Amino acid sequence: MKLFNTLTRNVEEFVPNVEGKVNMYTCGPTVYHFAHIGNLRSYIMEDVLEKILRYSGYDVKRVMNITDVGHLSSDADTGEDKMLAGAKREQKTVMEIAKFYTDAFFADCAKLNIKTPDVVEPATNCIDSFIEMVEALLEKGYAYRAGENIYFDTSKLSNYYVFGNQTEEELMVGVRDDVTEDENKKNKNDFVLWFTKSKFEDQALKWDSPWGVGYPGWHIECSCISMKHLGEYMDIHCGGIDNMFPHHTNEIAQSEAYLGHKWCNYWFHVHHLNDQSGKMSKSKGEFLTVSLIEGKGYDPLAYRLFCLQSHYRKPLIFSYEALDQAAGTYKKLKKRIADLDKNGTVDEAAVQEYKAKFVEAVGNDVNTSMGVTLLYDVLKTDLNGATKRAIIGSYDEVLSLDLLKEEVAADNGVDAELEAYVLAKIEERKAAKKEKNFALADAIRNELLEQGIVLEDTREGVKWKKA
Ligand code: AMP
Ligand code: ZN
Repeated sequence: MKLFNTLTRNVEEFVPNVEGKVNMYTCGPTVYHFAHIGNLRSYIMEDVLEKILRYSGYDVKRVMNITDVGHLSSDADTGEDKMLAGAKREQKTVMEIAKFYTDAFFADCAKLNIKTPDVVEPATNCIDSFIEMVEALLEKGYAYRAGENIYFDTSKLSNYYVFGNQTEEELMVGVRDDVTEDENKKNKNDFVLWFTKSKFEDQALKWDSPWGVGYPGWHIECSCISMKHLGEYMDIHCGGIDNMFPHHTNEIAQSEAYLGHKWCNYWFHVHHLNDQSGKMSKSKGEFLTVSLIEGKGYDPLAYRLFCLQSHYRKPLIFSYEALDQAAGTYKKLKKRIADLDKNGTVDEAAVQEYKAKFVEAVGNDVNTSMGVTLLYDVLKTDLNGATKRAIIGSYDEVLSLDLLKEEVAADNGVDAELEAYVLAKIEERKAAKKEKNFALADAIRNELLEQGIVLEDTREGVKWKKA
């Protein structure tokens, strides 16, 4: 298994801390609104990473947080809490908003066949752990109190910019919206670990702490939640590329200051889904959701295929034309698979050979488009239908495109009806042939031809198309 590691900027051989086991952490959603399909691109690619690791034989434990407190509308630690803004917008409580959008997030994930991580932990469950870590950082001299907030002191680190060689643009990606300088900070990059005083006094959720009633900063939650479930050493930490700075940079700063040793070995960052006007963002207001594309008649799995067709380390541009193409490809691919002959004996040796090819291809830095190409390679071989189906079913443990699930995929009701009608006629013709009633079989074929439907007898069964 090979992975590009943002820490070293190289594709490296993946070696976990403990042989055969992988500790993996994923930054979860901020649940103040629906996830847009850009967010979900990150979760799809992280899902494939988890699944290819499992497919390759690793025992994976994956943890995800739910950001239900602390993520401010500016990553520079100023601005309103995103959760509170969502609650005001919808005239609900913050916890109602969190519950509603957490459920909506997992419903979207289910539609995209994204597996739920082994542990999902909302930040509001772990306030005591955050306070403990902040106390320890103060004791060790890595944090200071100013203006009634607690800040992490980045000047105490010899190498704060761990991801190195970052361009100015990359350093800016995480800094969104209205950035205003916080005068309490000793250094530009210092960040809040615990707020007791913010410009926005009406914070809905507050907890008692040694420094007064307040609430945690955003970054601390991921360090604490991952350590709570995965311990002091982590193998892979995932997130979208915008999380690299400042979120992940700050997570590393505080975690390693707290632990006194290296924390996570591999950093996996998914590049953005952009629309033609630029980066998709929840705060822009109008954004694309799974329900929206579903409402327009697209199968959410066509969007998953669209994502799998390109590499996670390249920006991806969304357009309806591109989605149409993916939807067309998906439909044809499923049809080809549905048409495979289900009879015959599975050639186990071939299955093993093709599984190894898949691990080699997709295990090479999550090369999903090679995985998709391999599907076509399998379809083109001389292997029997049963063997092809066994290999494709196995690949689908990782690709998760429901490739063996048969349904009448249709653009609209008329096509669905047509498909059902033709399939029934094909069955009738098959029965006629079985009874050696070739005159009836030919009559059915001609009847369909008159209606503009052509039947083809192939090695893989009867196929049909519009004339
Ligand atoms: P959020 O809910 O804003 O905390 O983001 C959830 C996840 O989506 C994070 O891993 C982000 O880095 C990622 N993300 C945000 N915008 C995009 C985008 N346009 N394309 C891909 N991933 C994104
Ligand atoms: Zn995080």
